[in-house]
Amino acid sequence: SSGTIRVVSGSDVSASLFDRARAVSPGGVNSPVRAFKAVGGTPRFMSSASGSWLTDADGNRYVDLVASWGPMLLGHAHPEVVAAVQAAAARGTSFGTPSEPEVELAEEIVARTPVDLVRMVSSGTEATMSAIRLARGFTGRDVVVKFAGCYHGHVDSLLAEAGSGVVTFGLPGTPGVPDAFTAETLVLPYNDPAAVRAVFSEHGDRIACVITEAAAGNMGAVAPEPGFNAFLARTCREHGALFVSDEVMTGFRASRQGYWGIDGAVEGWAPDLMTFGKVMGGGFPAAAFGGREDVMRMLAPEGPVYQAGTLSGNPVATTAGLTTLRLATDEVYTHLDDLASTIQTMLRDALGAAGVPHVVQSAGTLFSPYLGRTEPVRDFSDAQDQDPAAYRAFFHAMLEHGVYLPPSSYEAWFVSDSLDDDALDQIEKALSAAAPAAA
Ligand code: PLP
Repeated sequence: SSGTIRVVSGSDVSASLFDRARAVSPGGVNSPVRAFKAVGGTPRFMSSASGSWLTDADGNRYVDLVASWGPMLLGHAHPEVVAAVQAAAARGTSFGTPSEPEVELAEEIVARTPVDLVRMVSSGTEATMSAIRLARGFTGRDVVVKFAGCYHGHVDSLLAEAGSGVVTFGLPGTPGVPDAFTAETLVLPYNDPAAVRAVFSEHGDRIACVITEAAAGNMGAVAPEPGFNAFLARTCREHGALFVSDEVMTGFRASRQGYWGIDGAVEGWAPDLMTFGKVMGGGFPAAAFGGREDVMRMLAPEGPVYQAGTLSGNPVATTAGLTTLRLATDEVYTHLDDLASTIQTMLRDALGAAGVPHVVQSAGTLFSPYLGRTEPVRDFSDAQDQDPAAYRAFFHAMLEHGVYLPPSSYEAWFVSDSLDDDALDQIEKALSAAAPAAA
């Protein structure tokens, strides 16, 4: 029904599912940000999705700008991905042996990125956890440097000043992680070369690695300033530390080659280790870490650094990821770039027309608005200087008008190749209806 704006009718079924869920699960969810705690209200229980549209248990439809937090690059239930997954499942869902799809997916990742070798895991958290262990094993050093506002999954040693859900809930870190586990983690402000120089001059010979999001997407979208990642790579090399670029969110999304394709490939540097997830699983639990051959060959069974997984390289998950990557052609990435800039323009126009102070910024195809400020966001302390009440009101107004945004102002928005004119029309109308709510 192009031309008419959909208005959401009600959420009774979601509300009753949420009651049942809370009786059997903490917060009623299996990942905290899904509970709508930051924005309030009833989380919508989705029952199906197709292309760029989600349908909830009450039958409401929403244009999806979350894309399952990144994986659904092509949109939901892409017919070729579904067919490949069905065929793979019919051949057997897990063998606990090597199988061809995981080799093909590894070949695709090696072809697209600067890594020489990859090891598959099942979540981004496992990927960063294993990369850190490997960096420590390879260097024989313990200290890990990370940046405030960067989220690398719920790895104990990386939960210091993490962004995403941790900051959405106002937590500095989390109980349950002994101080000793974060004692070897040094947290620096993002985009601050002077802080990096200072920490290396004091602790340089104890630093195993620097880990950073290739472009920060977990405090909203904060791109590295030009040369920042190259500087990190160079500084690590000078001190015998490894540079770990976390592309779980940006990998195979920001470009064919991930964020590295628009940063390292242009500036001429490569990370020692990289982590991937989300898009490479095509909506299934598949992730990976990879990197320099001499480092990766330290992993068991070739080397002494242990790492393993019952479902690692799972044939159904790797088939979903491989099919997704094979469909993600250069034209798809050009389309994603266009969609991201179109929607950012719509967003700026609507917020501007409603008189809402805002800055909309991007990192590759990730983008997000910061309401209640007009200065660019460079780091985590900037990101915290925004107006959560304005975002809450805006989020609910968008939801009412059939557009599903991240239920937190510390998350990036995600486009998918399936966003068509109908979906863009819905977004534009919803924005002009919803922006005044944020004023
Ligand atoms: N690294 C980054 C940059 C992420 O954005 C995320 C998740 O959002 C992770 C790691 C953790 O991945 P997962 O949720 O699959 O454990």
